[in-house]
Amino acid sequence: MLKFKGIIFDLDGVVFRGAKAIPGAAETIQFLRGKGVKTIFLTNASMRTRAQVAEKLSKLGISAPIEQVITSSYGTGIFLREKFGAGRVFTVGENGLRDELSQAGFQVCEHENVNFVVVGLDREFTYAKLSTAFKAIRKRALFIAANSNPIHPMEDYLQPGSASMIAAISACVGKQPDYAIGKPNTFLLEIAAKQMQLQASEILVIGDIPEIDILAGNKFNAYTILVLSGVATREQAEKAPAEQKPKLVLDSIADLKKLF
Ligand SMILES: [Mg+2]
Repeated sequence: MLKFKGIIFDLDGVVFRGAKAIPGAAETIQFLRGKGVKTIFLTNASMRTRAQVAEKLSKLGISAPIEQVITSSYGTGIFLREKFGAGRVFTVGENGLRDELSQAGFQVCEHENVNFVVVGLDREFTYAKLSTAFKAIRKRALFIAANSNPIHPMEDYLQPGSASMIAAISACVGKQPDYAIGKPNTFLLEIAAKQMQLQASEILVIGDIPEIDILAGNKFNAYTILVLSGVATREQAEKAPAEQKPKLVLDSIADLKKLF
C-alpha cells in the first residue's frame, strides 16, 4: 500500500489526452481526495492560463481550484519575479503564456527592446516572431524556456512541442536558453510542494514521460509512478537510464485506487 500526503499529477497523457479524460480519472481523484490526499495538477504545457486549465478539468468532471493548477507559464512568472523582480518580455507562445506573465507583473511587448524572451509552444510561430526573438537576445535579453517538450500529444495523434521553437531560436542566437523552467527541472515541483505544505518525501509524482516527468520527480526525491496512458511504453520505461526510472509503472491512474 502507498501512503503519500500529496500527489502531483501531470495532465497530458495522465489525466486527459487532448479533449478526453483518461477513463476513471475523475473517480480516482475523488477517491484519493476522500482519503485525505492533497492534489496538484502540474503541466509543462504553456498555452492555457491556470484558469483555463481548471475550467477544462471541471468539464471533465474534476473539480480543481486554481491553487491546485500549476503550468510552466505560471511557474515562469514566479521564477522571473523572484529572481529579477520586473521587466519587459517578448513571448513566443500563446495566450496562456502572455496572460500569466502579465499577471505576474511583467510588461508583455511586441518588439525586441525587452529584458526577457520567453518561449513556449506557439502554434502560430512565424519568421517575424523568430526575428524579434533573435534581435532581442542579440541585444542581451535573457532567453527563457517555459518548457522544452519535444512533443505535444493530442487525442489520437502527436504534434510538435515547444522544443522546436526553442531549437529555431537557439540555432540563430548560437546558445541554449539561459533558464529552463518546466520539468525535468524541479522548479515547478518546488512550487507544488510549497503549495501543499509538504516535503518531497511525502509526495508522489505521476507522469507519462520518463525523461521529463519521472526525471523531475526523481531529482526532487519524490516517489515516482509512470503511467502508460500517454507517450511512453513499458519497454521504454524498462530501458530508461536509472535517473529516469519510475518506482512503479501502472497502466493508468485508475489503478491507483488499488494502492491507496
Ligand atoms: Mg504528459
